[in-house]
Amino acid sequence: MRRSLHIKLVLIMVLLIVSLMVVVGAFLMNSVTGYYIDEFYQQIAGAFGQDNVDFVRDLQTATEGEEDGAAMVGELLSAYAGVLGVDGHDRNYYVLDGATGRCLAGSAAEPDGGVAITPNISTALLGEPGFDSSVTADYMDAAIPITRGGQPYIVYILDDRETARSLNGEMFNLIMEALVLGLIISVLLSFLLSKTMVTPLQRLTDGIEEVARGDFSRKLEVTSGDEIGQLTESFNAMARQLQTTVAAVENERNKLDTLFLHMADGVVAFDRKERVIHANPAAGRLLGRSFTQQDRYGDLFGDLFPFEQAEAAPGGLAGSRTVDGRYLELLLAPYARANQGGVLVLIHDVTEQRKAEQMRKDFVANVSHELRTPLTNIKSYAETLSDGVGELPPEMEQRFLGVILNESDRMTHILQDLLTLSRFDSGRSELRLTWFPFAQAVDDTYQAVLMDAQNHSHTVELAMPDHLPKVRADRERVMQVMMNIVSNAIKYTPDGGHIVISAGLAKDRVWMEVDDNGIGIPEGDRERIFERFYRVDKARSRQSGGTGLGLSIAQEIMLRHEGSLYLVDKDDPGLTICMELPIQGPRREDAHED
Ligand code: ADP
Repeated sequence: MRRSLHIKLVLIMVLLIVSLMVVVGAFLMNSVTGYYIDEFYQQIAGAFGQDNVDFVRDLQTATEGEEDGAAMVGELLSAYAGVLGVDGHDRNYYVLDGATGRCLAGSAAEPDGGVAITPNISTALLGEPGFDSSVTADYMDAAIPITRGGQPYIVYILDDRETARSLNGEMFNLIMEALVLGLIISVLLSFLLSKTMVTPLQRLTDGIEEVARGDFSRKLEVTSGDEIGQLTESFNAMARQLQTTVAAVENERNKLDTLFLHMADGVVAFDRKERVIHANPAAGRLLGRSFTQQDRYGDLFGDLFPFEQAEAAPGGLAGSRTVDGRYLELLLAPYARANQGGVLVLIHDVTEQRKAEQMRKDFVANVSHELRTPLTNIKSYAETLSDGVGELPPEMEQRFLGVILNESDRMTHILQDLLTLSRFDSGRSELRLTWFPFAQAVDDTYQAVLMDAQNHSHTVELAMPDHLPKVRADRERVMQVMMNIVSNAIKYTPDGGHIVISAGLAKDRVWMEVDDNGIGIPEGDRERIFERFYRVDKARSRQSGGTGLGLSIAQEIMLRHEGSLYLVDKDDPGLTICMELPIQGPRREDAHED
């Protein structure tokens, strides 16, 4: 850029100087020639004018017995050579025959081929003086017709303009010298100009290139107050503004990127050519695949809606799909920016919602069912009693009343359990935290179930280290969990079984494990036994007074303590279940300290 501008500057200067010199030269040379022509004609006209009446009269008056008029005219002209400027070299006079134009005499020898008949001579031949000369001609002449002794003559003055030519030559040389000098000055000036103009422009260009590369840190120095200085200042302001804008845009993009990266919903963006241009990790996770630029809309979502349809639906199109057992809701919406755009696919995982919905439905159905069975029993026994008042044998009445009481107890039991769960759900149930010896609680549970176990001919083993720390927990509720899992082991182990209750310490947690060799839980049901009302064998559970709510409540209690309740994998028949408690108790604030 610098070089080209510099060359342009030099060229402009050279052109300026050359054209100036040509114009001045042409004007000067023309003026000089014009001046000489004017001078010539003024001199000739002066010689033949009013001031030199004698000379004209002498020219026209022939002397007595004159033989050669032309020679006499020549002599007279020779005498007036000074007035006429005739030098015999550059300017000569000739006396021509007034009728033919033939040369009769002259201050110099007749030119080769005779005196040429010029326009002025032609004019004089017609009797008029010829005083005209072109600036471009290489001579100037004047032809004056005179009559001497009745003979017509033409006095012809011819100047070869040598004086003007040599002066013009001198001037030409001078102009040439001036031109060379001018050119040298113009080159020097252009260097100076390039330094004052091109250098700041070059600096500006470098700065712009750096900004274009994304480096906004450089501030250009303002060295002048002229237009270039103003331009540099404007550029600095623009770079600052651009830096702020780019930073803001980058910030926004980072925010969006983070959002995209961490959002739970999947997003896949397609361009107008149906190519994947963006897909966040959630989309890959939910759809169980990875994405590349080669993936096309048609292969991924073409089964839901054609691309054109999705692109033309401003409100978006809703679809659904099941992938790996997960239920996904999809929203396909167009996005457009200028002539770019495409389709965005939003993937929302509604599996948990569906599950919760299903659980709620199941729960309502279960509660109704669980309450209806004892109610039906109570009603039918009460009706039988009412129908046969005084007719039924007393022992039968007693048995019926026993059933009614039993079923009422069962209903009360279910309702109490439901109430407990509902308190946990609504967060209304507070833990009464105290420090108590964990080993003591395990031992109390062991003692409490021993009789029941013996009734079923089970052997119960207790394995515990000597020292277990005290724990901070709600003793009553922890005991409820322990009782629940040990009772289950007794209930779901055929008579004569073997139950091992063990406890211990692991880091900052205490644990109690109950292992039996009973009926165990089929693989498919293991995950579900903590669900409300879930029972593997409903009849067996009901028979043993179970409600299917025990383990749900136990797990809620453990979770409230920030502990856990889980099944332990084992190869032998039976079930191993383990509860864990943090020694320090829950860190949450909603627990109540006694
Ligand atoms: P329930 O009142 O029916 O005992 P729980 O919530 O305590 O309800 O237990 C849920 C289900 O888990 C039981 O119905 C039973 O099928 C199964 N279960 C619990 N403990 C055991 C165990 N030790 N062995 C086999 N099955 C068990």
